[in-house]
Amino acid sequence: MFDKILIANRGEIALRVIRACREMGIASVAVHSTADTDAMHVRMADESVCIGPPPSAQSYLSMPAIISACEITGAQAIHPGYGFLSENATFVQMVEDHGLTFIGPRAEHIRIMGDKITAKDTAKSLGIPVVPGSDGGVPDVAAARTVAAQIGYPVIIKATAGGGGRGMKVAHDEAGLEVAFRTARSEAKAAFGNDEVYIEKYLQRPRHIEIQVFGDGRGNAVHLGERDCSLQRRHQKVLEEAPGPAITPEQRDRIGGICARAMADLQYAGAGTVEFLFEDGEFYFIEMNTRLQVEHPVTEAIFGVDLVREQICVAAGNPMSLSQDQLSIRGHAIEVRINAEKLPNFTPCPGRITQYHAPGGLGVRTDAAIYDGYSIPPYYDSLIGKLIVHGRDRPEALARLNRALGELIVDGVDTTIPLFRALLQEPDIQRGDYSIHWLERWLAENMN
Ligand code: ADP
Repeated sequence: MFDKILIANRGEIALRVIRACREMGIASVAVHSTADTDAMHVRMADESVCIGPPPSAQSYLSMPAIISACEITGAQAIHPGYGFLSENATFVQMVEDHGLTFIGPRAEHIRIMGDKITAKDTAKSLGIPVVPGSDGGVPDVAAARTVAAQIGYPVIIKATAGGGGRGMKVAHDEAGLEVAFRTARSEAKAAFGNDEVYIEKYLQRPRHIEIQVFGDGRGNAVHLGERDCSLQRRHQKVLEEAPGPAITPEQRDRIGGICARAMADLQYAGAGTVEFLFEDGEFYFIEMNTRLQVEHPVTEAIFGVDLVREQICVAAGNPMSLSQDQLSIRGHAIEVRINAEKLPNFTPCPGRITQYHAPGGLGVRTDAAIYDGYSIPPYYDSLIGKLIVHGRDRPEALARLNRALGELIVDGVDTTIPLFRALLQEPDIQRGDYSIHWLERWLAENMN
């Protein structure tokens, strides 16, 4: 096992990893920019190294600075968290070239899944159902017309290099295709420096259902059921729950089994998430994330596992403690993302937190990186914490979430807390009846 791990991240996820390290008796090293000298992850780690100025490109994304921090402190492994360098195959290669261990999958798997066309082809070849669409990239409008006529309108044009919901355009009919195609292409070029696009059938009322997978890198893999992350604003998740209110045990076993077998075939190592759209009982692969997700705690709650501990064990060459026949679901969990943002436009709202009180009690977990008097810097993501509740069933989880949100105090900055209090009053949310478009529609009707 490792003696010391460096966490190449900040915020709540850095704390999450530090906590796992401490329970495992492993020393932790935090890295931070000059804007984060007073950040919670720096305070909580055993050691810390300043790696650069506030802009991420010069600190949290600086590969040489992070490798040097390992060398200075004697850390043997790097946990990347999510975002930043977590899905950067070049970084993984660099880490390995320096004789260090990357806590995550192999560079090859990150590369395959980082390109959406290759990812989709790979998924298909592994027996995972995909959204009907073009075979690979579509070079011009004429080719786009042919594909769209075959699969039928509406269609969505997506950037191969896409991420964060950018470079996606919907065409409802042939008349709208040319504009959608050209716009998606120029957006893709501007955002990712790669204008390759592909076409998919546009699903009208799907849910976003993702399967948590975990592999030991030696051909053993399991699935830990699904999370429903349909509540999204601008393709960004806002609330996640597990199990999915619309998924039956048979559907879970079927799609989970397919994903676990696929990961076993790939000899995938560590945590991963296979993302699907789900409509009329069918799953359609959209992409795979080769890292720990923001919403992993809902899975941890219902399965009673520590995914970060498993990641560390597998990276150290030890077996994983997860086996499919011992994984069973207990109850229901919901996570809400607490962002420092001002409603109704979700404008980032950095600033000083004058008072913070975390909720407690049975079935309540708060993963946050803030404290009384902490100043949220303006340079990074606005996620300041996550509130996760676990109950015996969905109604109990909802009641607990409402109770916990009532106890949570974050003063001094605007947050998304009032949004969740309002959402919990909605009959559709109480029934679990929502698709990926529900929240946008609700916001348009209720927030402006
Ligand atoms: P990104 O990598 O930019 O997040 P994804 O492929 O994961 O892109 O898609 C993000 C979101 O866009 C999905 O969760 C869904 O809301 C929407 N979306 C993507 N593909 C389709 C599709 N074929 N039909 C309908 N909505 C889609």
